[in-house]
Amino acid sequence: MQKIISEATVLEEVKKAITETLTIDKESVKPESSIIKDLGAESLDFLDINYRLEQTFGIKMARHFILEHIEEMFGEGSAIDENSQLTDKAITLLKIRMGDSLPELRPGMDMDEVPTLITVQSLTSGVMDILDSLPEKCSACGNSAWKSDANVRIKCGSCGEYATFANGDDLIKAWLTKIQNEKKIF
Ligand SMILES: [Zn+2]
Repeated sequence: MQKIISEATVLEEVKKAITETLTIDKESVKPESSIIKDLGAESLDFLDINYRLEQTFGIKMARHFILEHIEEMFGEGSAIDENSQLTDKAITLLKIRMGDSLPELRPGMDMDEVPTLITVQSLTSGVMDILDSLPEKCSACGNSAWKSDANVRIKCGSCGEYATFANGDDLIKAWLTKIQNEKKIF
């Protein structure tokens, strides 16, 4: 199925949310930029960035980072050890999630470094995952006639209702469950 909102459009909106939150030039925002390390965001800025994206797309971004979900699902200490370092299992999982090529993802990584892994591209992928949860049919009228409105909200071309999506935290949990079933990491 062709995506109603393209990844390029989402990337543009993510850049916009970041530049408006951090009041920086759009030219300095690259897909591979670390939002903390390269663009100077602090943790509180993510609330603002996420809020803007939620308003723009009509979605709910994840409130909790993946490490918190791992600890909740697989028990305390499964993601972070007593020295606040990531466990080998957590590293394995993050590599599956974020790619194998990140040099930061190594045994003994401190949990405080993890947010620096969030890039413009990974935030964009997070939004795309949520948009991909678009149900086949409109829950209000049962028709399958999604289109985007004048901006980037997806609405029903038949009755005009806005689409609803899975929230970001539920999608992370579903992903963790799937990977655990396949690879039995924990
Ligand atoms: Zn409808």
